[in-house]
Amino acid sequence: MAIHSPFRNLVVGVDRKLPLVNGKYVTGINFDNAATTPPLHSVMEELGDFAPWYSSIHRGAGYKSILSSDVYEEGRDVIKKFVNADHTRDVVIYTKNTTEAINLLSYILEQKDDKQVILSTDMEHLANDLPWRDKFLVDYVSIDEFGKLSLEDLEMKLIHYGGRIKLVTVTGASNVTGYKNPIYKIAKLAHKYEAKILVDGAQLAPHCPIDMKDYESLEHLDYLVFSAHKMYAPFGIGVLIGPKETFEGEEPYCKGGGAVKLVSHQFIAWDTPPHKEEAGTPNVMGVVALLAAIKTLSSIGMQVIDNYEQNLIHYAIAGLTSIPDIKLYCCAGNKEDRLGIIAFDLPGIHHELLANILSHEAGIAVRNGLFCAHPYIEKLLGITNQKLSDIQKNPNVPCPGLVRMSLGLYNNSDEVDILIDLLHQISKNKKAYIQKY
Ligand code: PMP
Repeated sequence: MAIHSPFRNLVVGVDRKLPLVNGKYVTGINFDNAATTPPLHSVMEELGDFAPWYSSIHRGAGYKSILSSDVYEEGRDVIKKFVNADHTRDVVIYTKNTTEAINLLSYILEQKDDKQVILSTDMEHLANDLPWRDKFLVDYVSIDEFGKLSLEDLEMKLIHYGGRIKLVTVTGASNVTGYKNPIYKIAKLAHKYEAKILVDGAQLAPHCPIDMKDYESLEHLDYLVFSAHKMYAPFGIGVLIGPKETFEGEEPYCKGGGAVKLVSHQFIAWDTPPHKEEAGTPNVMGVVALLAAIKTLSSIGMQVIDNYEQNLIHYAIAGLTSIPDIKLYCCAGNKEDRLGIIAFDLPGIHHELLANILSHEAGIAVRNGLFCAHPYIEKLLGITNQKLSDIQKNPNVPCPGLVRMSLGLYNNSDEVDILIDLLHQISKNKKAYIQKY
């Protein structure tokens, strides 16, 4: 049965026609939502409505400056409510995106002279791997044969390091396989062994509810990060949420005006968090966009969005499975344990060529390659260290990778049908397509 999104008309650009290789135009299909999402109409409207009031914040005494400061500051409470962060104990720090948020936290935590081990996982985006590497001893929770996180290995490692783990840092959902991690079970385990937990919510936040839970709960999420550009508000803002005390007393990650109370040539008196971590002129328009997106997503209901996308993802998986030689990297677990992300390959056609064919023949946007999760895909594909070193040394060796389709709340099943039909065609006529491109 066809699945039509009731949310399609909320999104900008969904009916935009794109040119094909044959000179014809078709309505573009965006299956690259895990990378970034188009803006909502409500976001554009709020930006337009706010623009006449925009002004420099915090330091201005003018009416517009005060109004802009209020929007920016009050936005922190809206964001806290969205993920049930603690109203008084947590701070929301505005960042550029998830990557900057994790870099910031890694810098702050490095200054705390207690435990020196970070437990990341084999399925992380590089944003939740590289910032830790130069500052801590980093170990990685392993994955099973399907690419799912091993909770047994997590507990073994927590025991092995005997209380030395500062943080378990884990993605809420993978940007490669779409697997959702059991973040509350992971939080419980981390807390049992006196570690904190950071959830990388970049993929989770646009698709399903997140609840940071009370501090008293063992399932409490200590830190949470996400990016607005994956939540239909692509205007350069992200957030880091965590306990205020983490940021008190430490050197800020970025230094300059706006982060201080008073400075002389003899001393620097830093402001309190979150302001201390937000040096420079802040991205107020980005905040306005994020707040507008949160308003619209919340009024639909994150659970409603999740339910809609669950239907569509199972429709897509069923269709993709019908293609004879396709290999999917997504289908290990319970129905509800995943997001609308499917990585696949079609043996005999390089991932880059396949992605190009989909674009040129049908105006379908997908992503191909290693999706900034190199170690995860290297493990999923079973690539040996020898092979990796050959690839690194020789630019002529084709880089391994996959093709990824990723859904948003506005995608329909007829778009999925177009992809599946074309993949059937390509699978049957590989040689012809390879010759053509
Ligand atoms: N983590 C995950 C799971 C992601 O999918 C991404 C973006 N692909 C990031 C982190 C980084 O997000 P950003 O580019 O917004 O910093």
